[in-house]
Amino acid sequence: MYENILRHPGPTPIPKRVDLAMSKNIISHRTPEFIELYNETVELAKPIFGTTENILFLPSGGTAALEAAAINTVSAGEDVVIITVGAFGDYFVNICEQHSFRVHKLEKPWGEACTAQELSEFLQDLPSIKAVFITYNETSTGILNPIEELAKVVHEKTDALVIVDGVSCIGGVAPKMDEWGIDILVTGSQKALMLPPGLALVAVNKRAWKVIEANQTQSYYLNLLSYKNWAEKGMTPNTPAIMLLYGLNEACKLINEEGGIEQTAKRHVVMRNMVRAAMTALNIGLLTEDAYASPTVTAIKVPKGIVLADFVAHLKAKYHLDFAGGLGSLQGEIFRFGHMGYCFPSDVLQAVSLMEAALQDFNYDFTAGAGILAAQKVFLESTK
Ligand SMILES: *Cc1c(COP(=O)(O)O)cnc(C)c1O
Repeated sequence: MYENILRHPGPTPIPKRVDLAMSKNIISHRTPEFIELYNETVELAKPIFGTTENILFLPSGGTAALEAAAINTVSAGEDVVIITVGAFGDYFVNICEQHSFRVHKLEKPWGEACTAQELSEFLQDLPSIKAVFITYNETSTGILNPIEELAKVVHEKTDALVIVDGVSCIGGVAPKMDEWGIDILVTGSQKALMLPPGLALVAVNKRAWKVIEANQTQSYYLNLLSYKNWAEKGMTPNTPAIMLLYGLNEACKLINEEGGIEQTAKRHVVMRNMVRAAMTALNIGLLTEDAYASPTVTAIKVPKGIVLADFVAHLKAKYHLDFAGGLGSLQGEIFRFGHMGYCFPSDVLQAVSLMEAALQDFNYDFTAGAGILAAQKVFLESTK
């Protein structure tokens, strides 16, 4: 009977209005109605990426968008740099190795960000690389890499393209793709964009198109040039995720109603600060430092004396509060609190309160209400 309170870093809850928008009668993708939907949705999505460039829609998960960005720009044997600070940075590594690129990995311990200084030193001996792949928000650790600074360093030191995985933050942050010099920025539908999985968005600038046009792309289905050609007619080369485009159109309108992506991004920062203040007040550790803490997901350490798997399972069974576990080496060490997309300060207060209830069930030593009070304080300050 109870509804699951989904606080994963993707998939995320879907607003009723988005659900309703997706329950319209389906239309053909070769009709004027579709062209209107397509063109309007592209325009609505642009500010969310901070771009005036075209945005392409693939009927796929985020991983296909990462692969499309890689294989359309780089060919086998060419040199690339991949910044990896966690499990999703390793996606880029796996994709690039799969396609036999020469991978130079700038790897940081899980829980840390990559700084501009580190990238600058790393690029010192690698001037002739084709692309630098960066995870904007590392979902496995809750790290937001300093993309603006990293992109700047790449352009200062090399002619490489800056290719960014924004899957777990686009819709929850306010990037300036054009201003910061991000050449390709990709995301998926099921994280901060408040949609079901199955739609990927790929924004490509003119600099990247030049590279793509000169590159021999091996893929038929993930060929971005064919998407570009069809986009000029307001269509896609194959059947798109039509209902998800209706959903995206509505999700963008919700963001606009909040005051635009800058306001939506501010809400995410408030939620991040609420979660962090609450955990600190409860004497529960955080994986990351404040400086690079993600506004969309927080990695939380095990409360002292508690077995993590038991705690997370108990929260779900008794309170219907559903958190995500740790990935890879962090399994059993952390759990992840997703606070992105259709999530509000009120949801954070609810989750913290239920967590406190569960902590009491586990006889954890703390002052009841301390976490709620700390989160409330952050929230109240943000409303002044
Ligand atoms: C979820 C995620 C992906 C993978 O997206 P899928 O839709 O699962 O293919 C890639 N990168 C990041 C940062 C993610 O959070």
